[in-house]
Amino acid sequence: MPKKTEKKPPKNSYNCDRCPSYCCSYPRICVTKRDIKRLAKHFGLSLEVAAERFTKKGHEKGEVILRHQLDEHFGTACRFLHAEKRHCTIYEARPAICRDFPGTRRCGYYDFLSFERRALEDPDYISITNNT
Ligand code: SF4
Ligand code: SF4
Repeated sequence: MPKKTEKKPPKNSYNCDRCPSYCCSYPRICVTKRDIKRLAKHFGLSLEVAAERFTKKGHEKGEVILRHQLDEHFGTACRFLHAEKRHCTIYEARPAICRDFPGTRRCGYYDFLSFERRALEDPDYISITNNT
């Protein structure tokens, strides 16, 4: 039980379960060696095979990013995003950057999505935007 003086952590104003995972469509989802090690362990692969299969070089020097696949909503999205169910297929082994995002109480895409759903009176509407 929290001490009386402890403040409750602020509640997030977004709900990833109600979102088509826009953040998984960002072109630059950067990974570290530690992330690749975790992926390799998850799939029972060597570090080299996991790196080749799941990642590629980014535009910035030394940058390594997750590979993408085609995506019906956002053009392309992370290869680990489930195309229909819209959830991460490697949740327990996802990279650190995915664990930390968005890093604030609000998510810009979720605000936009909520606005459009209210305006269109359609709770399942998916706001289309393309990151490619
Ligand atoms: S875009 Fe925002 S609400 Fe949607 S899955 Fe990512 S963090 Fe969650
Ligand atoms: S690893 Fe999972 S959480 Fe991270 S971008 Fe890919 S699908 Fe999204």
